[in-house]
Amino acid sequence: MRIYPHRQKLMALNNISLSPNSLNLYLECPRCFWLEKKQGIKRPEPYPYDLNTAVDLLLKKEFDEYRKKGGRHPLLAACGIKAKLFSNQKLLNQWRDNLKGLRYYDKDLEATIFGAVDDILEFPDGKLAPLDYKSIGGDKAGIYDRFQLQMDIYSYLLEKNGFATVGKGYLAFYIVNKGNSLGNKSPLRKEIQEIQTDLSDLPELIKEAVAILKRPIPPAHSRECQYGQWFKKASVFE
Ligand code: SF4
Repeated sequence: MRIYPHRQKLMALNNISLSPNSLNLYLECPRCFWLEKKQGIKRPEPYPYDLNTAVDLLLKKEFDEYRKKGGRHPLLAACGIKAKLFSNQKLLNQWRDNLKGLRYYDKDLEATIFGAVDDILEFPDGKLAPLDYKSIGGDKAGIYDRFQLQMDIYSYLLEKNGFATVGKGYLAFYIVNKGNSLGNKSPLRKEIQEIQTDLSDLPELIKEAVAILKRPIPPAHSRECQYGQWFKKASVFE
């Protein structure tokens, strides 16, 4: 049977699939989450992060070079992390792919949870941990709630795919060093920050998010929402 584009879109909207970004959206605003996932009505796209995307691509190439040579990237050694880069390049490529990713289908919830990782660390006891590259223009690296959620979900997905994890996530920050001119040097300062992952609240969070998507109508606006308050005041001038 031929599947027409609009039918494909409807089918996609009816299949529940949750990524770290969509769960983050659910935490920010359940109504925006429902509108995006059920109706395809997305918030306006932010300014495109072309530079971050390009740096991510370069870092993937660089880390893959070290993976070929045994996986000891100098930044890991400099930060005292006793792990090497995950050796299975083929599987990692699949987990990096936005259309495939690291995924798990929850039969009870009839929902897929998925995420596209940047990299994975492998510890001497065989346990794994997610590693995400973060290129930032600010002066110092900050660990936002969305980074924590991302690391928790990747660890959860690794576990659901049968891999033991070390209970930690790693963020490799590449920070623009604004003190120097470009010259012929890389303007990026590097550091890795380790965070503890906590998977205890995730099953409940996923369950709540799926329950929202099974509702026929969207949740109400939050009274505290600053955009809602702005819209209410602005509507007077419509
Ligand atoms: S106005 Fe606020 S509460 Fe309402 S949908 Fe937008 S972000 Fe959500």
